[in-house]
Amino acid sequence: MKKVHNFNAGPCVLPKEAINAAIEQLKDFKGTGMSVIEVSHRSKEWDATMEEIEALWKELLNIPDGYRVLFLGGGASTQFSLVPYNFLEKKAAYLETGAWAKKALKEAEGFGEVVCVASSAETTFNYIPKDYTIPADADYFHITTNNTIYGTELHEDIDSPVPLIADMSSDIMSRPVDVSKYALIYGGAQKNVGPAGVTFVIVKEDALGKVSRYIPAMFDYRTHTKGNSMFNTPPVFSILVMLETLKWVKNLGGLKVVQKMNQEKAALLYNEIDRNPLFVGTAAKEDRSLMNVCFVMAEEHKDKEASFMEFAKERGMVGIKGHRSVGGFRASIYNACPRESVQALVDCMQEFEKMHK
Ligand SMILES: *Cc1c(COP(=O)(O)O)cnc(C)c1O
Repeated sequence: MKKVHNFNAGPCVLPKEAINAAIEQLKDFKGTGMSVIEVSHRSKEWDATMEEIEALWKELLNIPDGYRVLFLGGGASTQFSLVPYNFLEKKAAYLETGAWAKKALKEAEGFGEVVCVASSAETTFNYIPKDYTIPADADYFHITTNNTIYGTELHEDIDSPVPLIADMSSDIMSRPVDVSKYALIYGGAQKNVGPAGVTFVIVKEDALGKVSRYIPAMFDYRTHTKGNSMFNTPPVFSILVMLETLKWVKNLGGLKVVQKMNQEKAALLYNEIDRNPLFVGTAAKEDRSLMNVCFVMAEEHKDKEASFMEFAKERGMVGIKGHRSVGGFRASIYNACPRESVQALVDCMQEFEKMHK
């Protein structure tokens, strides 16, 4: 198989161990003589998998009692509407830190009054606003902890006077999280915890049932807490790969270990960006994401952008083109991105610098 360094933003690199374990179960699931995509989701074997995956989420994130973890379809984008559907009675507050945050906010506007407490839109979302007030009468406050497109990240769990809801699509399982500070955490799996097709929702059960509107069954979180995420047929294969990905995280030693690995990988790349006169980081230093590293060519080297892209591509780098709304480069270095890949990119940047001295 061709050797590449995968920096895709999502879907993205997953642990080889997880992919290989999933392949085995794609052939024969738990000795049933059937593939995991052939067994009944009502079978005892599948039931055990659902129990195992929820328990593993709770263990890894140290999720307190009173919370459930759901595995649903529709991606994080569906949660943009399910959150206001289930939580917005009168007013919601949003922090606008990027295109995803903006989409979430826009969906909420269809359900009630929405207050944007702060936005960094005027500087292409290159930082996370910190000076804002959360209205005390809001039904909830919505944040996006990692802004995948711009490479900014909230490194700590904030305090909120109202129920806190977070889109953690692109940094879940990259660090320990104080789940008790949140009413709900959601995200698409395809950045850090598995393949596309499954969406995780961590929800505090007693935060539900506070709105007066009718909620269709499939859009009501209580349907899925009651049905153990099997009110309808769950995305079995995506869930299985997610389980294997979480087992890999556990085998590494859990989230403290993973966080340290992520800090080291990110430092390796950011140090090179700061040292190398050809490149400039685009995100405010204190908000730099450990997951998505965004950078551009320095002003006087702008003409070399295409040439560096080609140079890196020839050396096996995949997916380093910045999002079309930002330009430049973005290296997504999620949990499963090996340190060797980050080192290979750094080597590339150094070689390119030498060629242009
Ligand atoms: C990728 C991403 C999304 C969109 O996820 P889908 O599962 O494709 O709907 C939402 N929010 C953030 C922060 C993302 O990175």
